[in-house]
Amino acid sequence: ESVIVAIDGPSGTGKSSTSKAVAAKLGLSYLDTGAQYRAITWWMISNGVDVHDADAVANAAAKPVIVSGTDPARPTITVDGADAAGPIRTEEVTSKVSAVSAVPEVRSLITELQRSIARSAEHGIVVEGRDIGTTVLPDADLKIFLTASPEARAARRSGELKGVDVQATKEALVKRDAADSSRKTSPLAKADDAVEVDTTELTLDQVIECVVTLVDE
Ligand code: C5P
Repeated sequence: ESVIVAIDGPSGTGKSSTSKAVAAKLGLSYLDTGAQYRAITWWMISNGVDVHDADAVANAAAKPVIVSGTDPARPTITVDGADAAGPIRTEEVTSKVSAVSAVPEVRSLITELQRSIARSAEHGIVVEGRDIGTTVLPDADLKIFLTASPEARAARRSGELKGVDVQATKEALVKRDAADSSRKTSPLAKADDAVEVDTTELTLDQVIECVVTLVDE
């Protein structure tokens, strides 16, 4: 039988590491929905579309072909056949992705793509994002909402991006979360039936253990 797990929350809460590890442990597929929004943002930038022009973004939204590989041991993402794993992690993409992901046409296209990937996952899937439990997969078997203090989130992010200062990272994170939480179409939000896990004082292994236990219940 196939199980669908939705893991939402702001950035720096350990969402990706947790989701990948849980999927690997349980033999499930894994989908990073943030990577898809980053991929479409990278395409917009590469093709000269002004990301702050919502009409231009909406008109171009259906053009890029985004393909996600869902093996948790080796997740992949391509745009029009080109490997996008590196380019989607640049600071430029990170600073522009909230504007692109707020455009309703972008969300409806990416949401459909996510649903079709989830439907075709044979043994089930762990899907991580911002609106998975509320909008993309409201019938998920388990919904987790990860949180952590802004300080803990910034410290984790700065650890990932070596050499970047913690204060600047914290400001950028807070700004992106505020934009993601305040957009009109499916904002970052906890579903009513989601289990909230505050990861501030937990190690990654403890968070993984907690989620695996919840899946098994
Ligand atoms: O998870 P990650 O930080 O890579 O997500 C990048 C961005 O993609 C978020 O800041 C948000 O704007 C957007 N996003 C979204 N809905 C999701 C996942 C990500 O709007 N389900």
